[in-house]
Amino acid sequence: MAPGMDDIVRLCKQRGFVFPSAEIYGGFRSTYDYGPLGVLMLRNVKDAWWRSMVQLRPEVVGLDAAILSSPKIWEASGHLANFTDPLVDCRNCKERWRADHLEPDPEDGRIHCPNCGSTDLTEARAFNLMFKTFVGPVEDESNVAYLRPETAQGHFVNFVNVLQTSRKRPPFGIAQIGKSFRNEITPGNFVFRTREFEQMELEYFVPPAEADTWYHYWCQERLEWYVELGIPRDRLRLRPHAQEELSHYSTATSDVEFLFPWGWGELEGIANRTDYDLKAHSRASGEKLEYFDQATNERYTPYVIEPAAGATRTMMAFLLAAYEEDEIGGEARTVLRLHPRLAPYQVAVLPLSRKDTLVPVAREVLDLLSPITMCDYDETQSIGKRYRRQDEIGTPLAVTVDFESLEDRAVTIRDRDSTKQIRVPIDNVVDEVTSRLAR
Ligand code: ATP
Repeated sequence: MAPGMDDIVRLCKQRGFVFPSAEIYGGFRSTYDYGPLGVLMLRNVKDAWWRSMVQLRPEVVGLDAAILSSPKIWEASGHLANFTDPLVDCRNCKERWRADHLEPDPEDGRIHCPNCGSTDLTEARAFNLMFKTFVGPVEDESNVAYLRPETAQGHFVNFVNVLQTSRKRPPFGIAQIGKSFRNEITPGNFVFRTREFEQMELEYFVPPAEADTWYHYWCQERLEWYVELGIPRDRLRLRPHAQEELSHYSTATSDVEFLFPWGWGELEGIANRTDYDLKAHSRASGEKLEYFDQATNERYTPYVIEPAAGATRTMMAFLLAAYEEDEIGGEARTVLRLHPRLAPYQVAVLPLSRKDTLVPVAREVLDLLSPITMCDYDETQSIGKRYRRQDEIGTPLAVTVDFESLEDRAVTIRDRDSTKQIRVPIDNVVDEVTSRLAR
């Protein structure tokens, strides 16, 4: 049975993946902190993206742009005018809702407040999602700045810098991972929608005539990325946007959607942003943001295909897809069948007991393995309980040092999914672990 949100939220809290932020003060409106395991897994999600988008693609380079930057960026990009959600207020209970998330009641055809059921709602009005702040000590309009609502724009305003220093030519890409901020009207569903979140965005610059081909290419590539990392294909779909849904800068967009416990929800949007952004920044700044093709003597503004994914939202989807409850030898267990690349720890090193004779050997094994991968070390409780604990946090391999190890210099490697165990000489443990993790 697919897990419910409660299962994931409980596991995240109990095992140290995600904590409600400022919990000792009663929490703070849908904000979350990533604990010892969450920080490892989130980093792994981002590393898996970076590996697939930058490391394995010679035509893609990275960027880490400032979160606080010139407000002129957001004026030129159209976000100041257009990055809005339609907001309605309930006159009865004063709750606020996104108008596009409310559906008419099938019985009376009217829209009801999801909180109190009233139909006394205001007209929709545009609400800008950007967080506004002031830079420097004086809080006046000339010092206004915005927290970026997407990492993109950093890519566009650095287009010439990157082009000149990296000597790339279209098709080429700029990849960036980082925090974005949106003053969401209705955050919720755990870390699905928060006001502070992390994005992983590629801006892929192509000759205009090739834009459509690359758009379809990236839709497929991005869908496959989730499948490769363990999300079953039948819990994923590509959904093209209808014309009226498209952002102000896009001529075509498809979402990669995941089947969440409450229904289909977006993990990533792949958009054809055309030459909208480069031209807008070019007009506003007076700088030429073009590519000069020496082969054809042609100067042009590239089109941009943007796969934009959420790291935090995606981590939650990976957790939901990996969560299972099964039975081992008549005993119930919870197991996270996470891809080894995503699991917080790849290996747990476990001395069978805390006996003085076993600990030095276990430490020796830990010293061999921790330079190559993230290891947990645990010597408390019974070995059965420790296996369960590792299963529940998704650790693919457990290496156990027992009394025989003192005689034969060998250890047991246990596989999380099959629970099968094999005996391996300590001298081979690095090779064995490396080959088992490389999938
Ligand atoms: P939505 O329709 O859910 O508000 P969006 O279409 O505005 O999302 P994009 O602007 O395409 O989202 O952002 C790209 C990705 O960033 C999304 O697919 C999602 O994974 C992530 N993302 C966007 N907003 C949030 C948020 N408030 N909390 C967590 N992740 C988010």
